[in-house]
Amino acid sequence: MRAVTIQKALQMEFLDMPMPTIQQPDEVLIKVRIAGITASDRRAWHGSVPGDTFPFIPGKNVAGEVASIGMRVLNFHPGDRVAVDPMFSCGTCKYCLTRRTNLCPSLSVMGIHRPGGMAEYLTVPASHLHALPQNWTWERAAMVEPFCSVVHLLERGSAKQGEKMLVIGAGTIGLMLLTAARFLGLETVIAGVLPSRLQRASEMGASLTVNINDPDFSKTLQDWTDGKGVDLIIDTVSLKDFLPKLLEAAAPGGRLVCSSFADLSQPLLPSVFVKKELQLLGARLYSNKFPQVISWFSAGDMQPERLVSHSFDASDASDAFRLIEENPADSRRVLLFFNSPH
Ligand SMILES: [Zn+2]
Repeated sequence: MRAVTIQKALQMEFLDMPMPTIQQPDEVLIKVRIAGITASDRRAWHGSVPGDTFPFIPGKNVAGEVASIGMRVLNFHPGDRVAVDPMFSCGTCKYCLTRRTNLCPSLSVMGIHRPGGMAEYLTVPASHLHALPQNWTWERAAMVEPFCSVVHLLERGSAKQGEKMLVIGAGTIGLMLLTAARFLGLETVIAGVLPSRLQRASEMGASLTVNINDPDFSKTLQDWTDGKGVDLIIDTVSLKDFLPKLLEAAAPGGRLVCSSFADLSQPLLPSVFVKKELQLLGARLYSNKFPQVISWFSAGDMQPERLVSHSFDASDASDAFRLIEENPADSRRVLLFFNSPH
């Protein structure tokens, strides 16, 4: 079988590797069909891999078909379509026992801390698999894992129907938040920089788009909310020195969720926090949101495939990674197909 391997920073090859085999009775061998390129995959491509040990197989977001099962696996059968939960946790700490596995001190994520799933075959414990409807496209299957992060962000922010939400960042995560917010009945303003991305957000149903560099940024938001402020802000970017503007935009009692790891000095304004009783919340990855996303995609008219901008065969993975870097304005979710019939 072949796998996408990062040989060193910015050098990627689709190479023959030993076929993985089921080692434990609870394991399942997956024939991978689709992988979405995530921010963590791109960091790995730039050379950020665990222990600086190359070659490294990226891939946090994969789905495929069950190829074979270990002898204690009862709930999956060959041919079943599945999405893979890439997060491995200890299962016994206080966070794991309270469904906050993303905070587990032993957390290990495929494609970040351990080898990922961008390979033609992969073994994982059955507990990491979520069954998908057999009639879904692989594009839809690939969108389940990224939407788990979206569910987590909205849950962290206690998003409620009828509320007004401001999303900072018009990239793929911003557009996914917009898609989910429309499904849940929130009004959303998308703030970004690239005009083409803001245009895309408008086409996908944003109530309003605003350029982050617009000197009237704050006034625009005040006007949009009739001076009341936005109920929920999700900042996917953490722009330097931008926090005061966000606090200004928030309604009294508002919530601000930050998901970016950008480590920029952000002056906090205690007086605004206190006066408005604001809540500042962090959000990291997610803790098993697969069933919820699968039910959303099954029940509603979310059309998550609209977030896919390009698809490549896995043998052209390096072209796909380059496309994202060179065309940030036009690329959204970029997918790699594995085991495609030619
Ligand atoms: Zn744990």
